[in-house]
Amino acid sequence: MVKCEKSPIPPESLAIEKQKGRNGSYKKPDVVEQLAKDFSNKCYICELKDISDPQVEHLVPHHNGRDIDDMFDWDNLFFSCPHCNGLKNKQEYEGKIIDCCKDDPEVHLHCLYDKGNVSI
Ligand SMILES: [Zn+2]
Repeated sequence: MVKCEKSPIPPESLAIEKQKGRNGSYKKPDVVEQLAKDFSNKCYICELKDISDPQVEHLVPHHNGRDIDDMFDWDNLFFSCPHCNGLKNKQEYEGKIIDCCKDDPEVHLHCLYDKGNVSI
C-alpha cells in the first residue's frame, strides 16, 4: 500500500446514482475509469497492477446499501482486486484499513531487525 492522490472532484454519475438509493450504482464507467487513473491501475491494498476484473471497494462498508452516504461517497471509494475486496469485507477488518488517500501508509510501518530476522 502506498500513498495515493485521488482527484478532488467526484465523477458525475455518483450524485445521479445516489438519488436512486440502494438501486443506484457506484461503479459506473466514469467512476471505475477515474479510480483506475488515480490509483495508477493498481489495487490499493496489494498493489497488483492491470487487474482484469477491478472492483470498486468501500473503505467504510455501506452494509448492502443501508449506509447510502458511505455507498456513494467519493472519498470512500477505492480501486481493488477481487481478492483484496473479498478479504477486506470480513468484519474483523472493519475500521482497520489505512486510508491511503489521507494517510501515508509508510508512517504506520515499523520494521524490527533482530538477529538476521526482519519483522514488520
Ligand atoms: Zn489486491
